[in-house]
Amino acid sequence: MATSTRLISRLTLVTGGGSGIGRAVCQRFASEGASVVVADIGEESAKDTLGTLPNDLSGQGHMVAVVDVSSKESVKRLFTSIQTHYFHPPSVCVNAAGITQDDFLLNMAEDQFDKVIQVNLKGSFLVTQAVAQALVACGAAKGSIITVGSIVGKVGNIGQANYTASKAGVEGLTRTSAKELSRFGIRCNCVLPGFISTAMTDKVPEKVISKIKSLVPLERMGEPAEVADVCAFLASDDSRYITGASIEVTGGLFIG
Ligand code: NAP
Repeated sequence: MATSTRLISRLTLVTGGGSGIGRAVCQRFASEGASVVVADIGEESAKDTLGTLPNDLSGQGHMVAVVDVSSKESVKRLFTSIQTHYFHPPSVCVNAAGITQDDFLLNMAEDQFDKVIQVNLKGSFLVTQAVAQALVACGAAKGSIITVGSIVGKVGNIGQANYTASKAGVEGLTRTSAKELSRFGIRCNCVLPGFISTAMTDKVPEKVISKIKSLVPLERMGEPAEVADVCAFLASDDSRYITGASIEVTGGLFIG
């Protein structure tokens, strides 16, 4: 558990905060003093995450919000409720909401492709845009937007044409956002996890997981907290000269 207070009074929005990597980010950020908006499509799971968080150190408190990141209307309602609750926008945002709908390219249905792009790529766009617009409008001095991509967005993965395209897309989105938003003091970066033990990878057959583990130089799956550690670094001033970057958190999988 982190003992640093480097995120004290940083209001942080975490999408996908109800599970896996998003939940670990909420926990890590709260342990470093941040106020956290736990946002997820599932209210119960977001409440469960909230129940695990230590009190924030600034007294602003944490909150739960239900959002479908693929819907502009829903994202708009999310920002209205944050503004109503805290009277200012989040200065840190972690885009962790994501889904898979795997199938071979030869079989993949159009709606499988569309759905994954809508949540993973369009959702990251909508939330990034809303955070940036709110920060610029209120004249905030700085912000940090972190998007959870994936190493498979770089190297491809059998059965994931939709998912890998969405994850390659968020890197492009992040690099462009970094270029456009630097002048407003807003940094934008990606983390690229390899294979992390969460509900998402619970769906992967054991045979495939064993094969993956044998390819990882560190010889194991990653833990959500190990991705959250890197997100906390990117949220903090320790990374103040880093923008437009993608940091791999893979245990060495696909080095080079
Ligand atoms: P997870 O445990 O399934 O968490 C994803 C969360 O996002 C779930 O709570 C999910 O709710 C929520 N969500 C889904 N659609 C949403 C929407 N439209 N709006 C808001 N929230 C939504 O998966 P995870 O492994 O932690 O994944 C987190 C991020 O890391 C994703 O972007 C994923 O692509 C990325 N990633 C994961 C791995 C890995 O190995 N686990 C590797 C690389 C990248 P429901 O459960 O109700 O759908």
